[in-house]
Amino acid sequence: KKFADRYLKREVLGEGTYGVVYKAIDTKTGGTVAIKKIRLGKQKEGVNFTALREIKLLKELKDPNIIELIDAFPHKGNLHLVFEFMETDLEAVIRDRNIVLSPADIKSYLQMTLKGLAYCHKKWVLHRDMKPNNLLIGSRGQLKLADFGLARIFGSPDRRFTHQVFARWYRAPELLFGAKQYGPGVDVWAAACIFAELLLRRPFLQGNSDIDQLGKIFAAFGTPKSSQWPDMVYLPDYVEYQFVPGQSLRSLFPMASDDALDLLSKMFMYDPKARISVQQALEHRYFSSVPPPTEPALLPRPP
Ligand code: ADP
Repeated sequence: KKFADRYLKREVLGEGTYGVVYKAIDTKTGGTVAIKKIRLGKQKEGVNFTALREIKLLKELKDPNIIELIDAFPHKGNLHLVFEFMETDLEAVIRDRNIVLSPADIKSYLQMTLKGLAYCHKKWVLHRDMKPNNLLIGSRGQLKLADFGLARIFGSPDRRFTHQVFARWYRAPELLFGAKQYGPGVDVWAAACIFAELLLRRPFLQGNSDIDQLGKIFAAFGTPKSSQWPDMVYLPDYVEYQFVPGQSLRSLFPMASDDALDLLSKMFMYDPKARISVQQALEHRYFSSVPPPTEPALLPRPP
């Protein structure tokens, strides 16, 4: 049975934040696609229109490091989003104990992540839900960011679905302090957490509640001083924390190069205004110093 006269549904790929994801054949191109079925049931009718208008903007985002949104259509009260099909994701790579990630491989994965982010930030679109399983990997090793902009259109997922707790580990301190106005820095913080995870081969800051997440951040970097982050005290959920000293990045990441640590420290700045931008990060000497990033096609991947 064809969907929208075009897609042949195959197996279920998984249950995601917003609903079921199916594998399907695009009869127009013969290619394989992933269709995300988003439940709109409980929302008001108006939300459909707002969502569709915003989705139209996402269709305009075209970059080698962004998952292409091929099509979007409502069907039986659900919104269907059609994406290019991807083989695996960065979480599977990080978790696979048989995979060795060289410094050049890590550089390549981070560079592709930042290139995708830079493209969207230039167009004033934030991701807001960056995590390794949202970084999909194609058959030729290309990394592409998935779920761009969805967090903003469909709401913060982890408040509504319990299985979404992992996103917390990638959350910037300003979000944990309840900032309502935030910027591209939230994606930079998340990218820093992913960089750290590539180096450590395990999630870096694994909080089990929002408060605990801040605790984990402070235990690593020390409680932020208001001189370091002047606007912090005005954030809605700001509370004064007991002083904890930070650890040196060198002791946290003993095997990282000096260039890697310098970039990491700039991405992990507390004050979002002082945090490095994605564009500046791409221009950091880490990316021009040896070893050069591995060619995507040569990156190690799960079987
Ligand atoms: P989450 O919201 O938990 O990040 P998703 O909704 O993105 O999950 O995806 C649910 C499942 O569908 C995952 O197992 C993911 O690997 C798979 N999936 C999502 N997008 C694609 C895609 N473009 N190609 C292949 N598989 C995908």
